[in-house]
Amino acid sequence: MSGPPTPARVPVGVVDPRHLEPVVGPHRLRELLDSARRVRALLGSRPVVNVSSTATGGGVAELLQMLLGYARGAGVAAEWRVITGSPEFFAVTKRIHNGLYGSPGDGGPLGAAERRIYERAIATNGDRPLGSIRRGDVVVVHDPQPAWLVPLLVDRGARVVWRCHVGIDAANEWSERAWSFLRRYVEPAHAHVFSRASFVPGFLAGAPVAIIPPSIDPLSPKNASMSRPAQRTALAAAMLLRRDGLGRSRRVTRHVHLLREGGALPADGPIVVQVSRWDRMKDMRGVLDGFVEHVPPRLGARLVLAGPAPTGVADDPEAAAVWDEMVERWHSLPTVARRRVQLALIPMDDPDENAYVVNALQRHATVVVQKSLAEGFGLTVAEAMWKSRPVVASAVGGIADQIVDGESGVLLDDPSDLGAFGAAVARLLADPAEARRLGRNARRRVRERFLPDRHLIQYAKLLADLAEAGSG
Ligand code: UDP
Repeated sequence: MSGPPTPARVPVGVVDPRHLEPVVGPHRLRELLDSARRVRALLGSRPVVNVSSTATGGGVAELLQMLLGYARGAGVAAEWRVITGSPEFFAVTKRIHNGLYGSPGDGGPLGAAERRIYERAIATNGDRPLGSIRRGDVVVVHDPQPAWLVPLLVDRGARVVWRCHVGIDAANEWSERAWSFLRRYVEPAHAHVFSRASFVPGFLAGAPVAIIPPSIDPLSPKNASMSRPAQRTALAAAMLLRRDGLGRSRRVTRHVHLLREGGALPADGPIVVQVSRWDRMKDMRGVLDGFVEHVPPRLGARLVLAGPAPTGVADDPEAAAVWDEMVERWHSLPTVARRRVQLALIPMDDPDENAYVVNALQRHATVVVQKSLAEGFGLTVAEAMWKSRPVVASAVGGIADQIVDGESGVLLDDPSDLGAFGAAVARLLADPAEARRLGRNARRRVRERFLPDRHLIQYAKLLADLAEAGSG
């Protein structure tokens, strides 16, 4: 029998949502538990199956691990499966991904040959039916990589949601091209979810679309509170900071791979940090140039650009090339500039250790930057805001929903304006009181808007609407 294939299952934890009470308070927790009860009544023992393209690395993996953990803790049978693909498949999906961000990506075409490569995933993922999916089950398909599954699942009688985590505020030729490639796969879904209203493509006007921004887990190794000594010990164990008499870390055993000149950073010097995948949309190169050229050396700050080892993210074929370009650029800097910039690869072998190091680095940062050229949401922004860090970030995509300029961070209207970027960073380095004020407000804003209870309640509503539409 042919039908949708069986992508590999990803193990998901079970996290009791009541652990959130100290953060969200009793009222919000009650609302969450009430909506979980309604979902359980609606679904009975049926699972909510999520499908994405990678179990580690990047925002979607980060999001699913935590959201599904809480959903399971609330008694909802949430599952997660990942598809596989050939390097050619992921080259095509990366082109689509870049296109949805309004960029040509590697400049290659999206024509009939690419469609054949894309649809070959149906065969390469195996020809068994998608696990136990039965008529009426709910499947949430994330992003373009597994979108080919949508029509197959619809044919099978599943209730299918396509959730798109990427997008651009104003369509251009590249986004139009990517949408015309994707349209036939995603249009048949029964509901569509976007992080921002401006990301919804024209052909979905009038369709049932839900706007659900992402959220972060305040209790995960990535975001849980961490004392200052623990931060320093973790960063010293990872070799980012000088040991300076700090003890051993029980949580960090692997070294970060570093490109630097002049040894580890002093534990008490100011640092500017961007944590991102090695993706052109994150503009690590622009951060480096903007910092070196426009943040005065007399402020004493160092820049740390950190990301996963470029082989660590399966669906991201561009990462190695972007990393190589960064290495080349770094080597081309004069020695004095090289001393001010470190490139860091944080090992991905142990996701909890990776998350713990990112947590320590974000907390230790004097200023966090996210100078993306386009961004679906930008979890790294919410993560830093939750840690009360002052953030300087581009006013693109979902970042503009997170930061209120001048209140809970600094927004850059033109991400390509390196002078404005450098000036904003320099201003915060020189004004710790202002940095603290922005950081305090940032944490409050994340508590109000970007925690999992709000996110799960919106999902519960979507499932209820879906069920109602299905019975109508
Ligand atoms: N991340 C990580 N280790 C790294 C680099 C990134 O854990 O070395 C995480 C980061 O903390 C965030 C996610 O990957 O949780 C990136 O999500 P975001 O929405 O910022 O961007 P995306 O990668 O989805 O484009």
